[in-house]
Amino acid sequence: MIVSDAWQERMLDLFRGDLPLISEMIRATESPIIGYPIYDISTQPVWQKGHVVLVGDAIHAVSPGAGQGASLAVEDALVLAKCLRDREDYALAFATYERLRRARVEHMVKYGRSLGQAKIMTNPIQVWFRDLLMPFFLKHFANPAALDWVYSYKVDWDTPVEGTPDPIEREIAVN
Ligand SMILES: Cc1cc2nc3c(=O)[nH]c(=O)nc-3n(C[C@H](O)[C@H](O)[C@H](O)COP(=O)(O)OP(=O)(O)OC[C@H]3O[C@@H](n4cnc5c(N)ncnc54)[C@H](O)[C@@H]3O)c2cc1C
Repeated sequence: MIVSDAWQERMLDLFRGDLPLISEMIRATESPIIGYPIYDISTQPVWQKGHVVLVGDAIHAVSPGAGQGASLAVEDALVLAKCLRDREDYALAFATYERLRRARVEHMVKYGRSLGQAKIMTNPIQVWFRDLLMPFFLKHFANPAALDWVYSYKVDWDTPVEGTPDPIEREIAVN
């Protein structure tokens, strides 16, 4: 196990060439510094079997960098409840739930992974340019609407699940 002091030393070392403010914050941190391993789970081929269907982290764990794992789990629960309410049997309900959720959660897992894999600049010249240009780019190009798909998603509880089940849902439901 790596103790807190060792993490602090390691982080001070990693940020040595960066803005002095970062080192000041690391030195000023009084609570324990802990390293967490980060995993994610995506693109699972089977979401349901018989009377069992998976929701939340059990089927699509998102990297904590996205801050969306709990939100996705709650969304799953609502959509699943809606499908159970509106489909004629549980097998079709599970299949419709999977169809409605799969693309969004897999996209979110990819998004979380991309945040964790962003390249860190260590070259002092690159860092200098980044700090010079960042305020300009944030002011002119940061666009909150670009993240609407993450933060503004709503489950419309009142509108029934649409249409008759499509052939893919019927196939999932019988397998
Ligand atoms: C460091 C970190 C930071 C995070 N930050 C955020 C964030 O800012 N925002 C966000 O939305 N999400 C965040 N998440 C993710 C979020 O915590 C999870 O995505 C969310 O808790 C998943 O909910 P869940 O109900 O699917 O699973 P869990 O919350 O893991 O619930 C599963 C439950 O099942 C219980 N259990 C397990 N096995 C059994 C068994 N055999 N019998 C009975 N019970 C059992 C467990 O004890 C647990 O209580 C973060 C995760 C981590 C690790």
